[in-house]
Amino acid sequence: MKLLGKTAWVTGASSGIGQATARALAAEGANLVISARREDRLQQLADELRATGREVCIAPVDVSDRQGMQQVGVLIAAQGGVDILINNAGTMPISPIINGRVDEWEQMIDTNIKGVLYAIHAVYSGMAERKQGHIVNISSVAARLTYPSAGVYAGTKHAVRAISDTLRKEGIRYGVRVTDVQPGAVSTELPDSIVHDKIRAAVKENMYGEEMANLKPEDIANAILYAVTQPAHVDVSELLIRPTVQE
Ligand code: NDP
Repeated sequence: MKLLGKTAWVTGASSGIGQATARALAAEGANLVISARREDRLQQLADELRATGREVCIAPVDVSDRQGMQQVGVLIAAQGGVDILINNAGTMPISPIINGRVDEWEQMIDTNIKGVLYAIHAVYSGMAERKQGHIVNISSVAARLTYPSAGVYAGTKHAVRAISDTLRKEGIRYGVRVTDVQPGAVSTELPDSIVHDKIRAAVKENMYGEEMANLKPEDIANAILYAVTQPAHVDVSELLIRPTVQE
């Protein structure tokens, strides 16, 4: 077990990539802090992982709640800190910019950018003091490309990639490694977060249909596991993972 004795905080652990990553890290021996808004799902996952011998702490919190995230940081610090942060929580209520769905833009910015920063802020000083830590930010293939209707979403993911690379450079002196993971299409609940009816239907049909050979959350969890189990002198800075069939 490569992560025995380590503790990891996974945000957005109630479904999809976060849930699969929590399972993968636990299978390698890590103890966990798991967070998301849906507490019932976190409870189920915690029960499952505790049955395998892992210690699991639940932190039901909205990542866009700055004070709530600070409180999670205090809780984590009181328990000795975390070795790994998987900054995964995200949302994708996309629509053409002409539609002016400003509330949805703000939700993406608050969750995908501010939420990522709040989680970093909650653990970073502790990692720097201990001179070791690993922060994994989940951006997207949309951190490199743009798509019509996904301007704000792609903007948030470009921001996460830029923040990740900056943090990687700043973290060298503190022994804190940073990895930016950029998934292509993964079969999860993410398209359900699209509020615009026509866009949701089109995205579900054209990108996330049953017949699509998309990635599974476990594929991304495996990539994350690879990054966080490298020796201390190796920083896996970026991982771009697409379904083989995705252009
Ligand atoms: P899911 O919808 O399955 O998971 C999203 C997770 O984020 C859930 O656990 C959800 O929990 C949590 N979350 C959403 N908003 C908030 C919030 N405000 N506060 C706290 N938690 C929140 O989608 P994925 O697993 O696919 O998404 C995980 C990450 O991967 C996201 O950052 C997404 O952008 C990224 N990604 C996904 C791709 C895909 O094709 N699926 C492709 C590229 C990147 P809850 O609702 O309980 O709070």
